[in-house]
Amino acid sequence: MEILDVYAVGFPRRDHLELQRNPQGSLPLRTFHVRPDHGRFRKESAMIDLEHSPLGGSGAHRFMTCTASFLVQREQILDGTFENIESDFAKLGTAAHDLGAKAVATGLEPFEYLGEEFSGYLAGWPGGISLDAVHIYFNECMKILAARKSQGSMLLEDTIHLPDIHPLLRGTVDFGWWSKSQGVYLRDYKNGEGVGVAAAGNKQLLYYAFLMIMNDPWLRAGPRDLLVSLGIVQPNFYGVFEDTDVWETTLGFVMDWGMNELLPRMNVLVSTQDLDEADYVPGDHCQFCPVLLDCVVMQRAFKAYADASEDFVAMLTNQELNEYYSQRDYARRFMNALESAVHARLVAGGNIPSAKLVEKRVARVWKPGAAAALEEAFGSKAYEERKIKSPAGIEKLSSRGKEIALEWGYKPEGAGLSVAPLSDPRPEAKPRTNATVFEGHASSPEAQGF
Ligand code: SF4
Repeated sequence: MEILDVYAVGFPRRDHLELQRNPQGSLPLRTFHVRPDHGRFRKESAMIDLEHSPLGGSGAHRFMTCTASFLVQREQILDGTFENIESDFAKLGTAAHDLGAKAVATGLEPFEYLGEEFSGYLAGWPGGISLDAVHIYFNECMKILAARKSQGSMLLEDTIHLPDIHPLLRGTVDFGWWSKSQGVYLRDYKNGEGVGVAAAGNKQLLYYAFLMIMNDPWLRAGPRDLLVSLGIVQPNFYGVFEDTDVWETTLGFVMDWGMNELLPRMNVLVSTQDLDEADYVPGDHCQFCPVLLDCVVMQRAFKAYADASEDFVAMLTNQELNEYYSQRDYARRFMNALESAVHARLVAGGNIPSAKLVEKRVARVWKPGAAAALEEAFGSKAYEERKIKSPAGIEKLSSRGKEIALEWGYKPEGAGLSVAPLSDPRPEAKPRTNATVFEGHASSPEAQGF
């Protein structure tokens, strides 16, 4: 019999949690052995506000890699200093999720909600929720529902918390649907437009799928080869005509990941007390780190930039420049987090002597009736010249626009070289020298005197 430790430090809700053997017998009978209770961890877990669970699904990609992000956040939560600062982008994302869930629940297209308010943002208004983007998510969910051949279960913005398995195992599934014959479908909506997220091997999706499976007695013991379809809908980044990024895996893979990677990792984290330098592991997962301002890696990068003068930078060796360049994303992230934190403190009435709140800049607009006055005064000069849209603008019009942009659009030769980090997907370009510039010219018939 396979014995798995569910908690590295005990949790006394159950002595044993047994999974049933499925009818095909394909999933081994597992008994989770729970060690004797350790009061400290139980008390700590009870104090953690699960709304901001440091081991929740949305942070899986971060805590699976960076130990410090969990340890620092836990410490702040326990001593009451943790501050949850939600950026405007995050608030807009919440509003877009609300609209998407309402549209799927009612079966009404997001456009039906034009002008309606969701979490402080108006649907389809400038500065509000993009109806085009939410519509893509709506279509994806409705497509899954329309393809169902048997009765199944749907999840819509459902928060699943499974304290019997781990007190901090908790996450919200944007959209899920499953049936015994068709498998598990899970879609995560991302409203962000800055950084694209891929579905294959995505830890956040795996976490949610694990929750979904463990939350249902049939799925827990379901056939290991049952389809699990995991997808990310991110139309504001990938464009409204791109297909959903879908990764198909199996129930067995998700269960193995949950049992062999997720839960052991969560156990190691909750039983770790001492924090040292090596626990800070930076990477893409830092982007939404809730303790970024307290991270020594980010602080160090920012301080190095803040202390450097332009003259000083010009005198650095290549190796020293490389040190700075490789840290610049950290410094930038620190700056962004700093802006958000100062904004939140000032809005809450705090005093930050070097900063103040001001009205956002807005462009002037014409009053009603201005068009007639302008036409009278300037005639046709009051109007801008008709100008054809760019290939990117035409692409946004329709799928036909995308086809035409593909057929007629092209990229002229680059305007010069710019610097990009090694992670940039573009191929490396070589600096142009006289030899490379005249290389083609020299071999042309004209250059050879013909
Ligand atoms: S910002 Fe710091 S603590 Fe947060 S994930 Fe990155 S390295 Fe870890």
